[in-house]
Formats: sequence, C-alpha cells, structure tokens
Amino acid sequence: MTLTRAEANERSAALSDLSYTVHLDVTNAASDDATFRSTTQARFTTTTSRVMIDLVADEVIAIEVDGKGADAEVRKGRIYIDNVPTDRPVELRIVARCRYSTSGEGLHRYRDPEDGHTYLYTQYEPMDAHRVYACFDQPDLKARWTFIIDAPAGDTVLSNQAEVSTEDLMPDARRHVFGETALLSSYLTAIIVGPYHKVEGPTWEGTYPEYFGGPEVHVSIPLAAYCRAALADRFDSDDVFAVTMAGLTFFHDRYQYAYPWGKYDQIFVPEYNLGAMENPGCVTFNEHYIPQGEPTAAQRSSRGNTILHEMCHMWFGDLVTPVWWDDLWLKESFADHEGTAALAACTEHTDAWAAFASGRKAWAYHQDLLPTTHPIEADIPDVAAAKQNFDGITYAKGAAVLKQLVAYVGEEAFIATARRYFAEHAWGATRAADLLSALGEASGRNMSAWTDAWLKTSGPSVITMSEDGTRVLHDCLDAVTHLETTRPHRLVLGFYRLGDDGLELVERRPIDLQDGSLTLDPPLPGDVTIVNDEDLTYAVCRLNETSREAVLTHLSSLTDPVTRAVAWSSLWNDTRDALLPAANYVHAVLQHGAGERQSVLDALLRQARTAWRSYVPASERSALLDDVLEQTWQQLSNEQDRGRARLWALAFTAATGDRPVSQQTASRLAEIRAGSVPGLPAARDLSWAAIIALASGGGATDHDIEAARAEDRSGYGAVMAAQASASVPSEARARESWRAIWQDDLSNEFLDATIAGFNSATRTLDFDPAEGYFEQIEAAWTNHSIAMAERLAIGMFPRGAEIADAPKGATGKPDPSAHPVIRATDQWLMQASDAPKALKRRIIEGRDDVLRALRAQAAAS
Ligand SMILES: [Zn+2]
Repeated sequence: MTLTRAEANERSAALSDLSYTVHLDVTNAASDDATFRSTTQARFTTTTSRVMIDLVADEVIAIEVDGKGADAEVRKGRIYIDNVPTDRPVELRIVARCRYSTSGEGLHRYRDPEDGHTYLYTQYEPMDAHRVYACFDQPDLKARWTFIIDAPAGDTVLSNQAEVSTEDLMPDARRHVFGETALLSSYLTAIIVGPYHKVEGPTWEGTYPEYFGGPEVHVSIPLAAYCRAALADRFDSDDVFAVTMAGLTFFHDRYQYAYPWGKYDQIFVPEYNLGAMENPGCVTFNEHYIPQGEPTAAQRSSRGNTILHEMCHMWFGDLVTPVWWDDLWLKESFADHEGTAALAACTEHTDAWAAFASGRKAWAYHQDLLPTTHPIEADIPDVAAAKQNFDGITYAKGAAVLKQLVAYVGEEAFIATARRYFAEHAWGATRAADLLSALGEASGRNMSAWTDAWLKTSGPSVITMSEDGTRVLHDCLDAVTHLETTRPHRLVLGFYRLGDDGLELVERRPIDLQDGSLTLDPPLPGDVTIVNDEDLTYAVCRLNETSREAVLTHLSSLTDPVTRAVAWSSLWNDTRDALLPAANYVHAVLQHGAGERQSVLDALLRQARTAWRSYVPASERSALLDDVLEQTWQQLSNEQDRGRARLWALAFTAATGDRPVSQQTASRLAEIRAGSVPGLPAARDLSWAAIIALASGGGATDHDIEAARAEDRSGYGAVMAAQASASVPSEARARESWRAIWQDDLSNEFLDATIAGFNSATRTLDFDPAEGYFEQIEAAWTNHSIAMAERLAIGMFPRGAEIADAPKGATGKPDPSAHPVIRATDQWLMQASDAPKALKRRIIEGRDDVLRALRAQAAAS
C-alpha cells in the first residue's frame, strides 16, 4: 500500500528519538530459499497509542512491545499496533520472513551463471527498506541504525558504517556487527553481501571546518571499491579512485563542511535498476559502469559524472534531506548540477557542460513537452507518485534551471547559500523554502518571483530569433495550465560571421528577457545568431531560417564545444517538433559528428537513431539506412580516436539491426566482432551488439547465438544472448517472447533484454500487439512491483509509428490521429477511467511519443 504525505506527516508529528537495531540472517542466500529472517528492534517515543510501521513480509513471526506480545494488525504492507505506551520510550520488536528480490527493489539476489556465486545488495529509494525489515519508511524520520548481518562465511559484508566486530556462528556462517550510524533516513541505509572483489583505495586527507564557520578538523576518508569477482580483471578502479579523490577535494573546498560519514565505499552491483545510489559511506553503482572493453573517455566521463553526483548527495540529500518527495528535486537537481560542475572543474572531462547541453538537457525538453509534465516543485501526494518523478524534470530540468539560477544570482551567492544551508540544517530534513530563503539572504535578491516563474510552472519557454535578426521573441505558455506566464531569462546571443573557415565568432551579447520579446539595440549584424550561446538558460531555442541553414552546413566549424552543443540542441528540438525533416538531422550528425567530443557524439548518435527509427517516414527509411550504414562505416574506418570509433561502430550495428542484413553488412559485423577493424579492438559488448543486430536483421540463427554464448559464459553474456534470441524476427519467436514477457518470472535485466529483443524493428507479427497490450496492462500493473510494472507499461507500449506511416486523412495528407495505435490508446483511456493514475501517466506518455513521431513523419512526407 502506498504511503501518503498526510500519513507521513501525521507519523512524524507523533514519533521521536528513533533508533533501530536490525538483524538479518541471510546465511541461506546461496540456497533456493525464497525468504530470509529479519528482526527489527525499533526504539522511539510516541504521542499516539496507535502506531503504524511499514513491512512487506511473507510471514510475520512476532510483534512485541517492550518484550510482550502486542495488540497488532498486519495489513497490506503495514502493521498497526494499538495500546503503545505514550508516557515513556518504548521498544518495538518485529520478527519476520522477507523475500529476496529479483526486481532490483529491496534485497536483490543475483546468482552469477559463470561461477555460481551469489550476490546481494539493497536498493530502497524512495520506499523499499520495509521490504527488508520493519521500519518507519519515510525520509524525515531519521534514526540511528545498528545493523547485524549473519552471512555466509567468507562473504564480503558491507553497510553504511564500518564493521565493529565479527563472530563465527557455525563452520559456514559469520555474524557481522556494524557501528551505529549517525542520523539517517531509512531509504539511505544499505546492506551488501557476497564474494565481492575488493580493491583497497587511497585515503583522502584534508583539514576543513567541521561545519561551515566551525572549528577545523582533520578529515581522513579511506576509499575502497568493489565488484563481482568475475569482473575483477577488467575493473579500472584507478580511474574510480582518481575521480573520487579529486571530487572530495572539490566538495570540501566548495561546501566547507567536513565529510561526516567516515569511510567511502563504492560497490558496483549487478542487475541494478538505476545508475547509482547515494547511500552514505556505501554508494552502490550499476556494474555496467565497468566497461566491457578498453575504457573510453565517454564511458569514464559518464561514470565520473555519476560518482560526483552521488558524492554531492553526501551533503545534499544525506546530511540534509528533503522532508517529503515533493522536494525530491531539491537534492536531485542540485546533485545533477554539482556533479557536472565538479566533473568540468576537477577532472580531465572539461567538456562536461557540452555533454550536459546536448544530452542531459534533451532529456529535460523531452519530458517537459509531454502532456504529463509537471512543475519542478511537484505535488506528490503519495509514494506511488514519487516513484514516477525520478524523471527528466526532477533531474535534468532542475539542474538546467539551477544553471540559470547561477547566471542570475552569481556563482558566489550560490556557493554561499549551499554553505549556509548545510551548516544550518545538518542532520535534519528541509523543504524548498529553506534553501530559497538562504539563497535570498546570500544574493540580496527577492527570490519569490523567480521561484514562482521557474519552479512552479511547467513546460519550456520558446525563444526565437526573428528572421531579420532585430528581435528576440519569447513565448512562455505554461504546459499544464495553458496560461501565458512570465519567466525571467538571462542568456547570451552569439553572433557568427560566415568566413573562409566557416563560422567565426564576432560578438557575444548577454541579454535579460522578461515577459514578451526584446528588440536588439543596436541590432546584431548579419550572418548567424546562436540563441542561448554558452547554454545559460533553459528554453527551447530556435534559430532563424538563415542561421539554421548555415549551421546545418557549417556546424563543425564552430570552435566552442558548448556552442556546438547548443546548436545541436536547437536542431534536435526542431526535428522533434516536426520543423526539420528528420533525415536532415541524421545527415547533419553523419556530416559533423566526427569533430565532436565522445560524450556529445554518444548523445547525437542515439538521437539520430531515434530519428531514423521513428521520425523518418517509413517509405524513406530504407534509403536513409543505406546512407547511415555506408557513412558510419566510413567514419569508423577513418577514425583515429578509439573511443569515437567505438561509437560509430555502435551506430553501425544499431542501423544494421533496423533492417534485413545484407551480405556486406554481415561481413562488416564479423570484422567488428573479430577486432579486425583498425583502431577498434574487440570488446565483449561490441561483439554482442553485432550478434543482436545480426539476429534482429535475420542474419543469425539460434545456433549462432548459442555459439557466441559458448564463447562468453559471463552473466552479461547470458543477458545479451537472451536479447539476441528474442530479436530473431520469426513470428514464432515473437509469440514466445511475448508470453515470457507477460507471464514468466524474469529478473529485471532479463525482462529488459526480452523486451528489447521483442521490439526489434524488422519484425512482422501475426497478432496485434496493441490489442494484447491494452488487454492485460492493467492487470500486469497491479500484479508486479513498480519497477517491473514500469518496464511493461513503457517497454511494451505498441510502437506502431516505427512500422507504418499514419493513414491518409480527408485532405490526402497523413492523419496521425487516425493511426491504429493512437485509436487503440484513446479507446483504452476512455474505458479505463479508474485505472491507476501512475499507469495512465505512462500510457499518455507512450501515446504522445508515437503521436510526435507520426507528426514528424507527416511533416517530412
Ligand atoms: Zn541523485
């Protein structure tokens, strides 16, 4: 049952002085037992005699208050206890059997098919700690935690604090007792168990104020990194430690607040639902951050960004925590902004803001143009709603808006605010107003108008340069209320002249836009104007026709990577908005991509793939794919930089999989697999990408897939083989995959792989997936945990747009609203008025994505 904000508020008003001892017995982890024993002792004071505690368990064995059987009722993931004494501290003891998970939520269990080892890790945000032990599972009820873990002997066992003692239980089990934590929210606690491979890192040392304005203390932080034993050989932990060391210096200098959590462990775990999680002292990462081949700059940059994002959370989120999920953006937008700022400032990845402008912000614009968009400061009535807001608004738009805020108040005021905020609210829980009032004090500005304009409205402004270059036009319509709104923008216009070497910078002019448009005085001279040069503000920025033409031809001559990223962003938004034919975007990427930084090229090639799969009219797709295959192969063959060569190779394989495979492409894929393309060493992930592409294009049989699997017995190979197998474009295989997706008990990664295979673009089906989807999605939503239900709702949404153009309407033009997928969706939405809101949100978004693709196709045909 979802916890509501009202219930959480009521509970935090009643409870205080909270501490826990949690004892888990996972000595059976390697067996087939589905459950483990979990004991919670919660000590607290309550002002109400009825107490509700959260627990999802297969069996509740005992519920005691102060050692005596309690008057309790167990119902739907909760235990209600009556007659709890209110005149003194009490101890509640709950013993239960909880279930190991395969969905990445709660206590996930993974068995490595290669060596048979069993690995456990926990993942709780926003509210899954109570799948593992009874607790008051809400962020503002911070507590001190002591964890006792009985685990298989020989396993590595980690938690937020360092271990203080161990004890042998029997020949093959060992008890691990961890030190008591500082005040911590339940969603930030963590347990790791398994034969994880440990790499001892350096110790970071420094002398900093204990808190901003406080006495100086010596800070010593031992680092360690962990991964599965099977990944030990290729774990490039040196790079992880280098970023971590640099980041700790950066954030200490910036926040002037000594890291308060002791050690800094970073654990790379299998079958992880997200990028990483900021458990203090025990940060977990998706093990896909460990490259399968030679690490490239793009891979290291992306991992570095995540390491620094999580590190920012040690202060922002962990030390000071949002009271409730309405203010999730407070920590996520901040961490996203600060992670990128740190990456640009303290590592070799100085182009971090270019990748932010072209990749991260594209995510924000995508989300903000969906009909389900919401203000950054969202209304989150319950945890079900919270789970859906880990999205492009909360992370990327929020961070982009903070970047605009820095331009607005100045970096100094921004940093001063952070320092004051941490010092004032350490170990507590806050709301947005606490940060904004600190910002007002530091900047001397009244922040309320800015807050209303940026945090409480939805949708991006659209900023356009007039054709004659004399006016900047500013449209700002709230996407939810559809009302005209005003939003202050501080941005830069970049004027470029078309010279012998392409586009040369003439002048950059900062402007302030308030409501309405601005006449430039003096007007900017002639050739090309880049709106939002330097990428200071968040808005859909449109080039005028003249500038766009010049940029399409000369983009790679722009020397500043951020300027190029802003230009790419404009072109991509135009493509998505059906203003630029998608084939032109794909050609621009093929023409200018070679000059880009790896992390930018990575984003561009993904966008190009969306363009050729979904936004190009079906009738033109085959001819365009011929170009894509030829040109990506040329780029790959000419590329000197191994990281970029890898990206071209991935684009080549992706394009291969989107059509029937020819003899020539098959032999090129074989070269990629063999590592015989100069400058492109063989790598496990490239090899599997090639097999999946071959399978999807009808060029690999089950026998070929099995042979590849025989060469790669790893856990990764198992998942990739499942995807390849589901990609085989036979009608029988499609039906098999369809059944497995909806009915089998697949783990999170196998479900992803099977869905990806099923969605293979060259497939024809002998059944209507839209009909099947709408028939069962509501039941599936109810029967699955949210992480799995989301995969089904989003991943299986019928993508008819990739297969066929919209039927022609009365005018002879394609009519997107008459497309069978749109019709089926509209019918479901009409009938399913009482379907869960969260499911409806996903279906409305799926519909909008298809509609957007159909509009782009219609405009180009
Ligand atoms: Zn985060």
